[in-house]
Amino acid sequence: MNLHEYQARAILLAAGIPMLGGDVASTPAEAEAIARRLGGSVVIKAQVHAGGRGKAGGVKLAATPAEAAEHASRILGMKIKGLTVGRVLVVPAAQITSEAYVGMIVDRETQKPVLMVSPAGGVDIEEVAAATPGKIHRVAIDPRYGLLPHQAMGLSFKLYRDLAQTRAAARVMTLLYDAFMANGASLAEINPLATTGDGVILALDAKMVIDDNELERRPDLAALRDESAEAPSEVEARRAGLTFIKLDGNVGCVVNGAGLAMATMDLVKYYGGDPANFLDIGGSSNPDKVVSALRIITRDPNVKAILFNIFGGITRTDDVANGIASALEQFKVDVPLVIRLTGTNEEEAIRVLQAIGMRALSDMDEAVRQVVAVVREAA
Ligand code: GDP
Ligand code: MN
Repeated sequence: MNLHEYQARAILLAAGIPMLGGDVASTPAEAEAIARRLGGSVVIKAQVHAGGRGKAGGVKLAATPAEAAEHASRILGMKIKGLTVGRVLVVPAAQITSEAYVGMIVDRETQKPVLMVSPAGGVDIEEVAAATPGKIHRVAIDPRYGLLPHQAMGLSFKLYRDLAQTRAAARVMTLLYDAFMANGASLAEINPLATTGDGVILALDAKMVIDDNELERRPDLAALRDESAEAPSEVEARRAGLTFIKLDGNVGCVVNGAGLAMATMDLVKYYGGDPANFLDIGGSSNPDKVVSALRIITRDPNVKAILFNIFGGITRTDDVANGIASALEQFKVDVPLVIRLTGTNEEEAIRVLQAIGMRALSDMDEAVRQVVAVVREAA
C-alpha cells in the first residue's frame, strides 16, 4: 500500500527524523491559510502516489500566502502520471545547498533489508542507477542486529565530509531503518535529504510503501489507505477479496492460487500471448468471487478472451462453474471464455457448464494454447 508524502512524513517525524512540519489542503483557500500560519515562504506539493512530481510541475515555491493559493489552484486537479491531485501539502521552504538520496528497500537478491544512499539526490534513483551506478552505495542489513553504527557511518561518509553532518545523516539512516522495520514497510525513501544554508541536515521528501501483509495487524496503518488515489479495478478487487494486478496484455486470467496464477501467466507468454492481469480468487471457493472477477476483467477494453485455470483442491470447481453461470446471467460477457478445470467436484462443474452451453478442458497446456489462438483470431 502506497502512502502519501504527508502520511509518510508524519511517521518519519514521529520517529525523530529532522523534517519541517506542514499541513494538507484540498482548496486554494486552505493552502493560503496554512501558508499564513506557517509564515515566510512555503513549498506547495502535489499529494499523489507518483514520484517525479517536481519535474511534472507538482512542487512549487511560494513567497507569500497569496502565491501559495495561486500555486495550489494550479496544482489541485492537475494530472501527474495519470493520477489526479486532490490534496496539496504546504510546508515551510528550506534553503538547499546539497541533495542526497537515502532509502530502505527489501532486496530480493540478498533477501535482506538494504539501505541505499547516493550523493546524487533530488532526481529519480532509477535514473542514477541507469546513468551513474557508481554513485549508489548499499549495505545489506541483518535484521537480527539491525543497522550497526559503523554501517551507517560508512555510508554517511560517502555523502558528507563534515563530521557533524556525517553523524547527523547516520542518525537519520538509523531512524529510517527503525521506522521501516516498525511499520512493515517494503520501501522508505528520503529524496532529497538536504543540507540547508546553515549546514543542517533536513529530510524534504518522504515516500513509504507498506507491505499489504502488515495491514491486518496494524489497523492504524490500514486506515491510511486512500482509495480515491488507487486504480478503481484494484480497489474493487480488494473489496471482493481477490488478489488482482492489472497488466497490459489482452488475455484475462482467472486462477485459484498465486503459484498457479504465476505459472498460468508464464504459459500464456510461452505460447505467444500476453496476460491482461494477475488474478487469484484465493483458496476458498465462493461463486461471488468469480462473479466479481469476471466483472472486473470484462471492464478492461483490452481483454479479448478470458482463461479460467482452476485446480480444485479446497476450491470446489462446481462453485467456480456456478460463479461463471451466475455472472453470465447478471451481465453480458462479450469475449470468449476458455475454461480449464480439474479436481474437487469436477463432474458437477462440467454438468453446470454444459447446462449453459459451455465446455471445460482438463489440460492446462491445451487451454492456454486455445485461448492464445482465440485472441490471435480476434486481432
Ligand atoms: P518529487 O519530485 O516527487 O520527488 O518531489 P520532491 O519532494 O523531492 O521535490 C522535488 C524537488 O523540489 C526537490 O528535489 C527539491 O529540489 C525541490 N524542493 C522540495 N522542497 C524544497 C524546499 O523546501 N526548498 C527548496 N528550495 N526546494 C525544494
Ligand atoms: Mn523526491
